[in-house]
Amino acid sequence: MYNAKAYSASSATSPLASTTIARRDPTENDVQIEILFCGICHSDLHQARNEWSAVFPTVYPCVPGHEIVGRVTKIGSAVTKFKAGDLAAVGCLVDSDRTCPECKQGFEQFCPNFTLTYNSPDKRSGGVTYGGYSESIVVDQKFVLKVPANLDLAGTAPLLCAGITTYSPMHHWGVTKGKKVGVVGLGGLGHMGVKFAHALGAHVVLFTTSPGKKDDAIRLGADEVVISRNADEMAKHAGSFDFILDCVSADHDINALLGMLRRDGNICLVGAPEKPLSVAAFNLLFGRKSLSGSPIGGLAETQQMLDFCGANNITADVEIIPIQKVNEAYDRLVKANVKYRFVIDMASLKKTA
Ligand SMILES: [Zn+2]
Ligand SMILES: [Zn+2]
Repeated sequence: MYNAKAYSASSATSPLASTTIARRDPTENDVQIEILFCGICHSDLHQARNEWSAVFPTVYPCVPGHEIVGRVTKIGSAVTKFKAGDLAAVGCLVDSDRTCPECKQGFEQFCPNFTLTYNSPDKRSGGVTYGGYSESIVVDQKFVLKVPANLDLAGTAPLLCAGITTYSPMHHWGVTKGKKVGVVGLGGLGHMGVKFAHALGAHVVLFTTSPGKKDDAIRLGADEVVISRNADEMAKHAGSFDFILDCVSADHDINALLGMLRRDGNICLVGAPEKPLSVAAFNLLFGRKSLSGSPIGGLAETQQMLDFCGANNITADVEIIPIQKVNEAYDRLVKANVKYRFVIDMASLKKTA
């Protein structure tokens, strides 16, 4: 084991602070990565504050971060995918059992025995896994992604969670040229959803409650913007969408959105509202409509997403912060006061004692 600088929460109510953690030395299939940038996902905040205690109780100290981009510093003897000096990325998963039916088909995100990048039992070193708010990480090569050389590295970090979370359902449900696609909410997820739907060639409509987001939505690739509180604007689009990506994690009217779908249309949830949504069955029956959900993506699909971003020059719109400002960033995240993702410049961690 070796020591690495990191930022951790020591309880649900304590701010994140500088600390030292133990990482395993790279074994034969491992890649050691010097972390250059780490995105701040809303899950980081929920987890640091133990707000998902019913499903994923937090083990302290907790080192969040699963939008990791860096440079390979060391490889194990059996590593063939990377060499020292290569760019590399790590998302929400660092391991899985590799033997279950889901893993065999490349759906590691559904493996019943996966290991999440942080706050997950660490089958290799004991304790729990520690995430990307750290100077380095050691991950099995199968779970390390390649980063296209043309992409801005800070803007690439959020692709590892916000990017794959929005790309995967669009890929799965066949968003392409000729389809009319809605994206609900323009935050960290929604702004990626708009970029992907546009790059895939769809006619993109952003649904928002904030008229102030109109210009930004158009700049990001939306063809039209609908203010979802305006009944007339909503009525104009009723029954016309093939697919809607619902990125809202606050309580909202899912029945109004179901009314936007055409026959066989689908709404996919990627946000996670705390309260159960209330769905009127008739809104699904007439038009044979579907309501679905999707979490992150598998390794092969995540690489495909990164390659697609490389080919289309897609990155997230980010605000770069030093790690010393992470608690401030969390407070602003609660107020949705960021365009559109915070990314930590990990060089700042070197300045801590
Ligand atoms: Zn995330
Ligand atoms: Zn598995």
